[in-house]
Amino acid sequence: MRCLLCPDLLFDHVEELTAAYLKEKQVTLLLCDLDNTLALHETVRPTDAVRAWVKELTEAGIQVMIVSNNRSPARVEAYCGDLGIPYVGHAGKPKRGRLLEAMRQFDAVPETTALVGDQIFTDVLGARRCGFQSFCVEPVCGRDSLWHWTAYWLQNPFRITARRRRKREKAGKCRVQ
Ligand SMILES: [Mg+2]
Repeated sequence: MRCLLCPDLLFDHVEELTAAYLKEKQVTLLLCDLDNTLALHETVRPTDAVRAWVKELTEAGIQVMIVSNNRSPARVEAYCGDLGIPYVGHAGKPKRGRLLEAMRQFDAVPETTALVGDQIFTDVLGARRCGFQSFCVEPVCGRDSLWHWTAYWLQNPFRITARRRRKREKAGKCRVQ
């Protein structure tokens, strides 16, 4: 049985999840956290890199949806509107309800759904509870404050395992599905 707090893999940034890579993992729906996964908390507009990444995935037939715990609907709406993708705000991760609801909107199933995010106790736990593939990323904010440093340090035991697994996967030494 998989650990509920261990992501499958840890990436430096979301752009590593290319369309080809996700297809290899049979992902048809990618649920994506917003804050510190795609953008800093105050950011309203996506970067060119994020735009290009979302375009690549959607053109390849992979559906992308933002699932954010952010309680500021105006900002999430503006950001996703700019990207032209749907979203669920105030998603309540790690609760399963709104994540499963999001999945059903696309007629997807847990086995072909993945969730990518920066936080173990919301994104990873939420994905695990729903039976989704779970990808974790390093936060875009880095460890820029004592608060962030402490918060991510507490997650290190789970992050380190997933980073090692990704390293082995990249080296062709293991396959994670
Ligand atoms: Mg986040």
